[in-house]
Amino acid sequence: MSTKIYPTDDLLVSIIGEIGGDEAVRVAVALANQEETTDERIAGSTGMRLNAVRKVLYRLHENHLASYRRTRDNNTGWFVYFWKLNPEKISDLVRDRKRLALRKLRERLSYEKEHIFFHCGNEQCQRCTFDEAVELSFQCSSCKRPLQFYGNNGIIDVLEDKIRKLEIETNS
Ligand SMILES: [Zn+2]
Repeated sequence: MSTKIYPTDDLLVSIIGEIGGDEAVRVAVALANQEETTDERIAGSTGMRLNAVRKVLYRLHENHLASYRRTRDNNTGWFVYFWKLNPEKISDLVRDRKRLALRKLRERLSYEKEHIFFHCGNEQCQRCTFDEAVELSFQCSSCKRPLQFYGNNGIIDVLEDKIRKLEIETNS
């Protein structure tokens, strides 16, 4: 099946987790393992209470992440809902998040490249830009120790590395 959710996909788990918490992740994983399934079967396979499963399903539905097909049970006359995940919506969401993350990382990278930084060497204190350091007469505003040049090549390398990975993942 192509719609499978991998619980190891951190981003996906964090998106679904944000929407409905740990229970939503459990329901999503149960849904991903089936073409379509009922709330009762999900309750059975996850050990969650039926009401909790239903709550999560409606929450996923609100976010267009899950949809259902309704049929009437000929024996009972009641409606039965067959639920499935909407993998396209999930990949849209994941892609949007990754693009947003990429944009923020690029902004951060230009900020790092456009500024020279100073720091007092004290781990609890924040670094500052050259302009800020001039205003402070090169004295840390928190601990009053002298501010010294702070090389940010390591930060730039990490950012460039993350950006390269996201560019490949999002084709951008
Ligand atoms: Zn300091």
